[in-house]
Amino acid sequence: MNPSSDAPTHVLMYQTFPEIGGVVHTHSTHAVAWAQAKREIPCYGTTHADGFYGSVPLTRELTAEEIKENYELNTGRVIVERFRTFDLEIMHYPAALVPCHGPFTWGKDAAYAVENAIVLEEVATMAMRTEKLSPDAKPIPQVLLDKHFLRKHGAGAYYGQKK
Ligand SMILES: [Zn+2]
Repeated sequence: MNPSSDAPTHVLMYQTFPEIGGVVHTHSTHAVAWAQAKREIPCYGTTHADGFYGSVPLTRELTAEEIKENYELNTGRVIVERFRTFDLEIMHYPAALVPCHGPFTWGKDAAYAVENAIVLEEVATMAMRTEKLSPDAKPIPQVLLDKHFLRKHGAGAYYGQKK
């Protein structure tokens, strides 16, 4: 079969970040809703903190020129730009939202990239419901974010089964 029309986006991610072994792009409903609202997904709880070390990044919008020429490659470029500009560790935030489009996720291999797409959609749903119940909801305390993310992904990670 032919590669996805989005292949240039994924290729740039692989070339820029050697840690990435799989990239997934979906139009899952709630993640897309945040992308269309042009909002990062705030980290309100530990479900989110287990997979992402803070808000899910939102890229800038593409310019008209970037949409007309090399659209798919430029989609990859705005993701890379978002991580480079804010000096974010790519594997600490294995997802990005592209405004008016949707989520891209990644992982060390294809299975992890798919898992992150599923987790992202759940997290997007939970955050939306949190704000519905409490429009003034505050993000998770830093100490709890650190505990949950780093016990799973930090240098001294101990969460889960040993291989
Ligand atoms: Zn798409």
